Amino acid sequence: MSAAEVPVTGAEGSRQGHRAPRAERCPGGRLKSARRGDYWLNFGAHLFPADGAPSQARRLIEELGLETVDVPGSKTAMAMGGRVHTNRRAETYPFTLPLSARERIQLVRAGLIVRTKVMSFLAEGRRRPGEPEAARRARMARFERHRTFAELLGPLPQPVDAIFRTASRRVPAEMEELSAAAGISIFAGNWAGKASGSPVNLLGGSGGLGEAVLRRLGERVTLGATVSSVESAGEGVVVHYETADGASSMTARHVIVATPAPRSRASCCRCPRRRSSDGSGRTCAGSIRSWRP
Ligand SMILES: Cc1cc2nc3c(=O)[nH]c(=O)nc-3n(C[C@H](O)[C@H](O)[C@H](O)COP(=O)(O)OP(=O)(O)OC[C@H]3O[C@@H](n4cnc5c(N)ncnc54)[C@H](O)[C@@H]3O)c2cc1C
Repeated sequence: MSAAEVPVTGAEGSRQGHRAPRAERCPGGRLKSARRGDYWLNFGAHLFPADGAPSQARRLIEELGLETVDVPGSKTAMAMGGRVHTNRRAETYPFTLPLSARERIQLVRAGLIVRTKVMSFLAEGRRRPGEPEAARRARMARFERHRTFAELLGPLPQPVDAIFRTASRRVPAEMEELSAAAGISIFAGNWAGKASGSPVNLLGGSGGLGEAVLRRLGERVTLGATVSSVESAGEGVVVHYETADGASSMTARHVIVATPAPRSRASCCRCPRRRSSDGSGRTCAGSIRSWRP
């Protein structure tokens, strides 16, 4: 057993998306890409905040000295029915996609629900005069938490369902598990981006971010370590994990759990999610974005 001040679980090796039950031997999680000569393929996250945007991701990109490039072409393109559709305005898709009349109406209906909710989400997220940040966050936490994203959209015909399902699979949960608020926030991210400039790509592929972090942290990163549980232990926390060399564990005063939410909830995190009432200050923070009654 070894000891560390604040280990971060899940912030390194990965396979894309929520089906990854374990760490893999490459850094970056859902930021994965591959080079093909002068081109690169992004398999997960690809849009990053533009220069000057007030964003942690942007600050990280700059701190690591990474270069960004404008995204050519349409950012609202989609593949359907064996063709790539490159409409520049998402609102025009109900009229141009290969859908039946009923499916077109359902796409308009679902699109209007999302659009209206995004507007409320963005309005709700704005800080009110004199309001402390904690109060704003608490208000946001109550927004649309009583139902799932699938319940918000209602039953959809298959091709329309596929459009929203594909878009929401950026996060590690299905529409039936995802809170309506989390689903809305995915679309809000796209529509809110205009105020901070057009999003950009990382030169060479998104995977470059994880690789740069790995270069910076060096031997402090353990790749291919699958965390099986995180438990409270006395005044601290114990992290149990497995590598190719077998099972091991590490004690720490605090732990930052950065595995996908269903994973954190299912097995990784058996310590209290909130600051403990005994005043020891232990906190276990997972990116709990999915919700189920
Ligand atoms: C197709 C797609 C497109 C996207 N597009 C964008 C975009 O354009 N812009 C944007 O901002 N976001 C986008 N996203 C979302 C973005 O990828 C995620 O928000 C981001 O990667 C989340 O980072 P994370 O570190 O929280 O989780 P992840 O990137 O999922 O990393 C979690 C890590 O935990 C590891 N792990 C899991 N279980 C264990 C375990 N038991 N032990 C140890 N490690 C474990 C995984 O292997 C992984 O490395 C997209 C996602 C997808 C899938």
